[in-house]
Parts: sequence; structure tokens; C-alpha cells
Amino acid sequence: MQASSPGLAPYASDPARSRGRRHAEPEAPTRSAFQRDRDRVIHSTAFRRLVYKTQVFLNHEGDLFRTRLTHSLEVAQLGRSIARALRLNEDLVEAIALAHDLGHTPFGHAGQDALHACMQALDAGTAHDGQGFEHNLQSLRVVDELEERYPAFDGLNLCFETREGILKHCSRANAQRLEAREPGGVATRFLRGGSPSLEAQLCNLADEIAYNAHDIDDGVRSGLLTLEQVASVELFDTYRRRALAAHPQLGGRRLLFESIRLMLSAQVYDVIDTTRERLRDAGVASPDEVRAARPLVDFSDGMRQRSRALKQFLFRNLYRHPQVMETTDRARRVVSDLFERYLEAPAELPPAHALRPDRPRAVADYIAGMTDRFAIREHERLFGSALFP
Ligand code: MG
Repeated sequence: MQASSPGLAPYASDPARSRGRRHAEPEAPTRSAFQRDRDRVIHSTAFRRLVYKTQVFLNHEGDLFRTRLTHSLEVAQLGRSIARALRLNEDLVEAIALAHDLGHTPFGHAGQDALHACMQALDAGTAHDGQGFEHNLQSLRVVDELEERYPAFDGLNLCFETREGILKHCSRANAQRLEAREPGGVATRFLRGGSPSLEAQLCNLADEIAYNAHDIDDGVRSGLLTLEQVASVELFDTYRRRALAAHPQLGGRRLLFESIRLMLSAQVYDVIDTTRERLRDAGVASPDEVRAARPLVDFSDGMRQRSRALKQFLFRNLYRHPQVMETTDRARRVVSDLFERYLEAPAELPPAHALRPDRPRAVADYIAGMTDRFAIREHERLFGSALFP
């Protein structure tokens, strides 16, 4: 019998009351179910690949930019800090945070968009219509099906609560497919409404806080954004001024870092205060009551607005920067070229993928698992020209 976790709030997810794993397994002698999930994620192949996958900048563009791996670690750090203050389950937060991007393709969103377009063009008018490619769903596929580590089952056999957190978004069509396979499971809330656990809600927000902050850092480091430009964003500028008030001589890198640090802290405390208040107002007393309520982990209205403005700034000035767009155009081409080639020449696939009856999905799984540089190398091998010399 597992000890229920002391110090947890009544609305926190309790590993001793988990809704369980898809394949029954004996409990571990010393680790809770969520600790075990976290450990399984860290030991997975997909997790190790995150180090060579793009966040915004391609992996080989510079050694100091965020990758999916360092991004996931930052999400876990922010998530744990907030979880501890709210007495939520830190292990569950960490498991979800470390797994949330496992399904990302190479080349970030450009890669995913290209793969989605390829799958949708193929799906149109077939029984698979609308399935396309979604990275959240792919993260779930990685932990449910694609990892091959255990003798008795495919995937990592994670707990319901971890899987629920990984499936952050899901189209209705895909939710219906999942629901048919797993009635009342992780996709049900996309069909019938309801919220995920507080730990899952927290990971969503920690994800947003993390990328808004680190994309400013990487954007300035890359030279695509200037500090003056970022200072036009109210949220950032508030903390830049505060940093300068405390340290009038501060400039350059250190001013950037100190401003981001103050901004991160303010957002973390804002989430903690706002969520405490909302939990009190909602009067939730269990994870089930949390699932029946509207989402409760959030920024205050003011912080939400200012965070949105920062996100829009990054979208316009960094993600849509001509230099980033030029790279993402090439990345999209790599992905769609590979997709077409593997589909018409399955002998180019590894045997395990070539033998699968669901070839388009097998091709999508194979490409989604690639690191940036592996995809580039495969493209060179199959097409003879170097799109990223
Ligand atoms: Mg993320």
C-alpha cells in the first residue's frame, strides 16, 4: 500500500488515488506512481531527442539557444515552483512538463505545419479525413504506443493523470477516435467539456511563461531583436525599469537577464496569488471537483493581458522575422519532401516502419521522431542537395 502524499492540498492529484495505468503493473516499493512516470519519461528515447529539436532557432544555428529539451526543463522548473506554493503534486507537474513536447517534429512549428498539411492532403475524402498531425496528440502517441522499452506493452504505460496533462489540446475528430478506443478516458473532456487536473493546467501556463521569457532572451542573443525593441512591450519594460531603478549602471546582457528574471518572478507570484483566490472562490475540495469546474490556474486579468501583448510582439517581430521565415520555409520543404519520398519509396524507411500497414501514419511517426539534423541529413541523402549547407 502506497502512503498517500503528506502536505498535498485536497484538490491536488494524489498518486495513491491515481486512475491508474492502461496495463496493470505492481507498484514500485519506494516511488510514487507520478515519480515513476517522471522517471520513465527521462529514460525514454523521445526525451533524449529533444536536445536536438528546434524551439525557435534551428539546433545548429547556435549552441546557446533553447532547444525542446532545455525548454522542457524550464517548464518543469517553473511548474514545480508554483506547484509547491499551491501544494499541488510536484512529481506530476514534472512528469507532464518533461513529456509535453515529446511529439514535436523537427524544426518546431514549421515542421509540424508541414507534416499536418501532408497528412491532411492525403486524408481528404478518406476514412482518416481530418486526422492530420497534431503535436499534442503525437506526444500522447509517443508515451502510449511509440516508445519500445518494455517487454509486456508498447509505450511507457503512464498514469491517466500524466496522459491527461500531455493531451493539452485535441481536435474533435481526433478526440472521437481516442474516445472510441478508451471510453471515458483522456479525450472525454474535449467532447463533453470539463477541465484537466490543476497540475495539467499549471503546465500549460508554465509553458507559456517559459517560452515568452526565453524567446526574448534568444531573440536578443540572435540579434533579431534589440533590447530597445523589446522595451516597447509593457510587461518587459516594467521590469526593465525596475532593474534600472535598483541598478542604474546596468546595461547589455545583465540588464536583459535581470529584467527577464524580475518578469518571471512577477508572473510566478501572479499565478500563485490568482490561483489561490480562484481555488478559494470555486470552493473545490478534490481533483474531481477541479475537473468539473472551469480552469482555475491562471494569471490575473491584468497579467493575462500584458502576457498576451508580449506574445503578440514575439509573433510579429521574432517568429515572423524574415530571417526566421526563410529558415522555416526550407524546414517545411525538408519535411514535405521526405514525406512524399518515403510514401512512394517505402524501402527508404527503416524496416519496422516500412512493414506497418498504416503507411502514411508510419511515415508521419518516423519524420516526427527525427531530430533537426537527422532530417537534414536524410534530405541530403534522398535528394542530393543540401537545403541547409
Ligand atoms: Mg512547450
